[in-house]
Amino acid sequence: MTKPLLVTTKAALREALGRHPSSSIGLVPTMGALHEGHESLVHAAREANDVVVVSIFVNPLQFGEARDLEHYPRTLESDLELLQGCGADVVFAPSVEEMYPNGEPMVGLDAGQFGTRFEGASRPGHFNGMLTVVSKLFHLAQPGSDAAYRAYFGQKDAQQLALVRGMAADLDFPVEVNAVPTVRHDDGLAMSSRNRRLSPEEREAALVLSRALRLLEARADAHEPLDPDSAVALVESQKLVELDYLEIVSPDTLEPLAFNCHETPFTGTALALIAARVGEVRLIDNLPLGTEEQ
Ligand code: AMP
Repeated sequence: MTKPLLVTTKAALREALGRHPSSSIGLVPTMGALHEGHESLVHAAREANDVVVVSIFVNPLQFGEARDLEHYPRTLESDLELLQGCGADVVFAPSVEEMYPNGEPMVGLDAGQFGTRFEGASRPGHFNGMLTVVSKLFHLAQPGSDAAYRAYFGQKDAQQLALVRGMAADLDFPVEVNAVPTVRHDDGLAMSSRNRRLSPEEREAALVLSRALRLLEARADAHEPLDPDSAVALVESQKLVELDYLEIVSPDTLEPLAFNCHETPFTGTALALIAARVGEVRLIDNLPLGTEEQ
């Protein structure tokens, strides 16, 4: 496949898209250090759109801890190779100065009360920063005409996906937000750019996250009470893993379920969310329950 066009300025991105005035656009926002999870987003975009734009930008606004930002992997060369293999047309990889020429923006988006729960509780301001950059990217990659405009986000970051959908609906962004299922390694670990910071022992220990989710899935499939406490105990039995939360929520709203997970046999659908620290690395994962998916 042909090499994607690499652009690093907003003007160059607008110019590149201006060459395809009536083409549909599929946007895949990423922070780079790309893996097969990102690849599946690009494939989904490729299937449905004329022009596929992938952004690579490690957004400082969404990092609370300076160490996390500093250690976030940056692998532009290998990212470009991967993107060439899956048919991206344009790669937008701006500098921090290009995205925020005046330093911290005067105006940003607020993820509201929902943005302070789950991931937001451990990472204050994270979702405000995420929404601010996604709104900028939505504007920057927008088609010139009223051609279809689609964006692709991973189900792996379920709260992010819900917030981006909320933003697009509440603020009337003319973009269709599409979800792509989580891609996992063969042993069950959800692919993440952060996995490469795990030592071999930590990586092995991290498998307990997906095991805990599968335990809940098995109970959901058998229509037994989910008994999340036993999944919590499984995670806590792993010494290298510090559980942050394990929650069973509604798949659409991410609100707590109306039934008692401890006693009531499971019916319907739900989403199990988990977050934990493994060594220095914070990992998240989730699994839909009561569906045929994944
Ligand atoms: P990131 O580069 O981590 O910000 O992720 C960019 C996009 O890729 C987000 O929409 C993520 O949800 C998605 N993503 C990350 N990991 C995976 C995965 N394992 N499977 C599917 N999508 C993923």
